Amino acid sequence: MDYYSSQISKLIEELSSLPGIGSKSAQRLAFHILNMPIEHVEKLSSTIVEARKNVTYCKTCCTLTDHEQCPICRNEGRDHKTIMVVEDTRDLAAYEKTNKYDGVYHVLHGAISPMLGIGPGDIKLKELMQRLQEEVNEVIIATNSSLEGETTAMYISKLIKPTGIKVSRIASGVPVGGDLEYIDEMTLLRALEGRVEL
Ligand code: ZN
Repeated sequence: MDYYSSQISKLIEELSSLPGIGSKSAQRLAFHILNMPIEHVEKLSSTIVEARKNVTYCKTCCTLTDHEQCPICRNEGRDHKTIMVVEDTRDLAAYEKTNKYDGVYHVLHGAISPMLGIGPGDIKLKELMQRLQEEVNEVIIATNSSLEGETTAMYISKLIKPTGIKVSRIASGVPVGGDLEYIDEMTLLRALEGRVEL
């Protein structure tokens, strides 16, 4: 039964298609939006559209950015010979929040998962290997400690080993199956400092 007019129902339906938004939250958001001043709603929707249109992958590290190259890759003060490999941009943000890592990153946008049919060609691995043509001292693999993250770490280290570049894996202070973005900064730092060479 449709309690609401069709436009309200449509709004609720669209909102509930977002991750983590159940039907109750979608209703709450929908009514909140309907009570907002129209200028505010216009600003919100145009911000979403603009971000979606303009945000793309950094041509170097593949993180999400609205520039050709992200601010980290453009920063000459950083150590461009140390590359930390993470699964997604949120993991990069987690390490950036520690303020203690001065290398650069490479964002894979996923992890290898034979179960889900995600192979090495489906993540930004080719782009990583291309970067290793230039002078690199160390690749730190900071994929999650889930089965997929470990599989990916193993795969990458095997790929890099023949190049002679040092490959390390962040220490297991990070709980198994733990998503990097939910782990506190101290644990992240300990994991980085305690990394082991593969
Ligand atoms: Zn970048």
